[in-house]
Amino acid sequence: MASALLIDKYDRVARDLRVSLTDRCNLRCTYCMPAEGLEWIPTPLTLSDEETIRLIRIAVTELGIRQVRFTGGEPLLRKSLEKIIAATKQLQTDEGLSPHTAITTNALGLERRAKGLKAAGLDRVNISLDTLNADHYFQLTRRNRHADVLRGIDAALENGLTPVKVNSVVMPGINDPDIVDLALFAVRRGLNLRFIEQMPLGPREQWARAEMVTAAEILTSLESRFEISAASEPRGSAPAELWNVVDRLNPKIAGQIGIIASVSHPFCGACDRTRLTTDGAIRTCLFSRSETSLRDIMRAGATDAELADIWRTTMWAKKAGHDIDDPNFIQPQRTMSAIGG
Ligand code: SAM
Ligand code: SF4
Repeated sequence: MASALLIDKYDRVARDLRVSLTDRCNLRCTYCMPAEGLEWIPTPLTLSDEETIRLIRIAVTELGIRQVRFTGGEPLLRKSLEKIIAATKQLQTDEGLSPHTAITTNALGLERRAKGLKAAGLDRVNISLDTLNADHYFQLTRRNRHADVLRGIDAALENGLTPVKVNSVVMPGINDPDIVDLALFAVRRGLNLRFIEQMPLGPREQWARAEMVTAAEILTSLESRFEISAASEPRGSAPAELWNVVDRLNPKIAGQIGIIASVSHPFCGACDRTRLTTDGAIRTCLFSRSETSLRDIMRAGATDAELADIWRTTMWAKKAGHDIDDPNFIQPQRTMSAIGG
């Protein structure tokens, strides 16, 4: 445990930092947030730009972090996103490189920001789009913004924020019939689409293990239209299992699609993530029920070395897995929007 890196007792090393830049959002996806009534974290309790940049610097220069992913809530709502990305890109990892940066975004307003984000040094985007059907999009997000997302995808491609990954949560009875259309769209446009099993991280009444659309069911839907074979690339710490797909009706339409089976086939053994919430807490896992706040210690004058030590100690205690299938599983207090997905 004396190592400088973020190692846990199962020998996993965290190289990927997820930074939540806000818990606020301009959508209300059913699997993530309640329609109303979720209180925002008061601004004085959230990290300032300088505090955020300081903790990212400690993670990269003292703790071995190599990739920084900005998320939320909706990270595009953070006005200083470009400034924080530019400061991150100035850092040097233990390999002597600038950290790889990405944002996970619902893409509302990306059309206007893509150029500036690229100029700030952003490498790549993950865009969340669950369906090509505008009515289903409204049912899922409770907002009528489907066209904005499509324009955001165009802007990401035009500005070289590539490879553009698309995250798609499959919800029973809403967008499960849309899997093939979204896959065709993604393969035609050269997008790296990843279907995601819904996790129990939103409003409690929204998730039921028995109703969840599983990775196996997603694969069966894809097989109705595509020839499918397992991709040969090693998966490493990537959560998505990759499949080669070829359209049976037009074999020129061919590419790869990922499926993230977080619930039915957890990949916790290969996890390389550590998380920082917008109010300055370190979380070792999306599903952690305890977290360690760095905010108050930092505000009380802790040195970089002290903050790095607390981060290491917190990561050492990371649990082996998320235990969703354990009958005693309890969902974390925070919803996904306040954790940072
Ligand atoms: N607002 C941004 C967005 O939607 O991309 C970033 C934050 S969002 C919490 C990050 C990712 O988590 C999104 O791709 C979203 O689809 C996914 N997500 C949210 N709730 C989820 C759930 N209950 N299960 C699986 N994925 C979820
Ligand atoms: Fe907002 Fe992203 Fe959650 Fe949807 S998934 S409500 S866009 S934070």
